[in-house]
Amino acid sequence: MNWISNYVRPKINSLFSRREVPENLWTKCPECGTMLFHRELKENLNVCTNCDHHMPIAPRDRLAALFDGGVFTEIDVPDAPPDPLGFRDQKKYPDRMKEARKKTGEKEAMLVAEGEIGRTPIVAAAQDFRFMGGSMGIYVGNAILAAAERAVKKKSPFILFSAAGGARMQEGILSLMQMPRTTVAVQMLKEAGLPYIVVLTHPTTGGVTASYAMLGDVQIAEPNALIGFAGSRVIEQTIGEKLPEGFQRSEYLLDHGMLDRVTHRKDLRDDLITITRMLLRLDPPIKGDLPKPTADEAKPGKADAQAGEAAAENADEGSAEAAQSGATTEAEK
Ligand SMILES: [Zn+2]
Repeated sequence: MNWISNYVRPKINSLFSRREVPENLWTKCPECGTMLFHRELKENLNVCTNCDHHMPIAPRDRLAALFDGGVFTEIDVPDAPPDPLGFRDQKKYPDRMKEARKKTGEKEAMLVAEGEIGRTPIVAAAQDFRFMGGSMGIYVGNAILAAAERAVKKKSPFILFSAAGGARMQEGILSLMQMPRTTVAVQMLKEAGLPYIVVLTHPTTGGVTASYAMLGDVQIAEPNALIGFAGSRVIEQTIGEKLPEGFQRSEYLLDHGMLDRVTHRKDLRDDLITITRMLLRLDPPIKGDLPKPTADEAKPGKADAQAGEAAAENADEGSAEAAQSGATTEAEK
């Protein structure tokens, strides 16, 4: 211990730490390192405004951005036994659950809801990677079954957003049993002739990829999402070969016929509206006539766009001058 380590170093550290931006205001993009203002990032659905990197989005925010007007009703999911195996690794399973609940404010790793997209009633489920890696335990199985049953009852499509590291090891064989169980749930939809659409988000791996996440009538993925069964290191060690670049990423899987499309998060809602209407054999949606999610309404510039539209309408009727005066009255209102 000397003067340098006791006095100079803490002083230097405190100087630098003061310069760090408060965590609650800014998020650093893990891909390009740009500092992103929280509100701006939220408005952009957690996609980096600089490099388009898709960061995780909480199920509640995702569903709010999906449904008309951001309005949805949660569907009840039957509770799962809290600790069926009395499992313990470094921590007890119930303690891990308590932590995950506190961290996410959610009960479990899957949120199920119903509402309308482009005025088409649908059931949707979103998996929460923040909740113990989105792992599939009995509850997640219950959630998918509840969603499928609701969709069959209402004769509506089921859209699922997957995000998981796989089965929940704390539930051992019981978590693996969710693979056939959820497959049966998907089969119920197929027998009822209802669309089942999967949106794979980063990351979707393990037993989830080996069951419900790969059984969609339409398979969509967000850009650059990691999607696979076994990890690439395990595969490399097993086959003794170097894997190609971009292996197990959305774009690679699309090129190799494993996906139907890769869609940017901002275009997902519109794509899902079109696809569900196509699969239900409804007329294509009328452009501009659909209620937008609240996130869109909050964006500045919408009023300008409306004024612009009004001006364009007026332009059809008369001279450019009339259009200008029309736009002015629109603004004055
Ligand atoms: Zn970025």
